[in-house]
Amino acid sequence: MSKIIPAIRVKNFSVYYDDHKILENISMDIPQNQITAIIGPSGCGKSTFLKCLNRMTELEENINLKTEGNIEFFGQNIYGRRVNLNRLRRQISTVYAKPNLFPMSIYDNVAYGVKLIGWSPKIELDKIVESALKTATLWEEVKHKLQKPALDLSYGQQKRLCIARALAVKPQVLLIDEICAGLDPVSTLKIEELIECIRSELTIVFISHNIDQVSRLADFTALFHYNENHIGQLLEFSTTKKLISNHSYHHRDYVSHRFR
Ligand code: ADP
Ligand code: MG
Repeated sequence: MSKIIPAIRVKNFSVYYDDHKILENISMDIPQNQITAIIGPSGCGKSTFLKCLNRMTELEENINLKTEGNIEFFGQNIYGRRVNLNRLRRQISTVYAKPNLFPMSIYDNVAYGVKLIGWSPKIELDKIVESALKTATLWEEVKHKLQKPALDLSYGQQKRLCIARALAVKPQVLLIDEICAGLDPVSTLKIEELIECIRSELTIVFISHNIDQVSRLADFTALFHYNENHIGQLLEFSTTKKLISNHSYHHRDYVSHRFR
């Protein structure tokens, strides 16, 4: 196995909403070009954590968020003052649990982020859109209706379109919240195949409640829980194989039962 380099290093990271602690003292290295899964019960801070990895939390309105500790992306402190947030969010791109497409065409949704970065000739943009849709295994289903509204697609297709939109800006890291939430088994399989296709070129972090899926896809797994004060903590981070087969008694129950 080639040497594993951390793409993202999380160091003693804590998060507060309105002075209420949500996440406490999280430290982990997210390895480059590997897949890391985040698992744990609802409310333990998984989505908040994912959003902190590219400071998406700060795009939400009316939230009073405070962080402690730091997160480095290839050595750069992403909470530093001079960070270019647009660039950061292109390099570390997010796919939310619920598809959040814009009320515009399929084509324009995929091209959206690329257009924001700057002008590209139409021919170039066409290529980027086609390539992202192919990678997201959606091209064959939509190539004849690229100008049709994205919101007319099925839920599973919308989810893949969100992944295509995220991939179009050529990120180094892809963050996917609740990767297959609300999807039927066929759409789930399509997403898993998609992940298999891109896994060698990208660092992927995803949240899932499906432990079988985590075993199939993830090289590493972070198990979160919340303590008696309802503060989210990282219980264990290791290879998925080790975490599932070798975990200690108190969360064996959690891993083997509660996810099913
Ligand atoms: P998970 O994704 O593991 O279900 P979340 O990150 O969504 O957990 O939520 C963790 C905790 O943070 C929950 O107690 C939730 O109520 C709280 N929380 C999430 N978003 C906000 C917000 N914008 N303002 C205040 N509290 C929030
Ligand atoms: Mg969540």
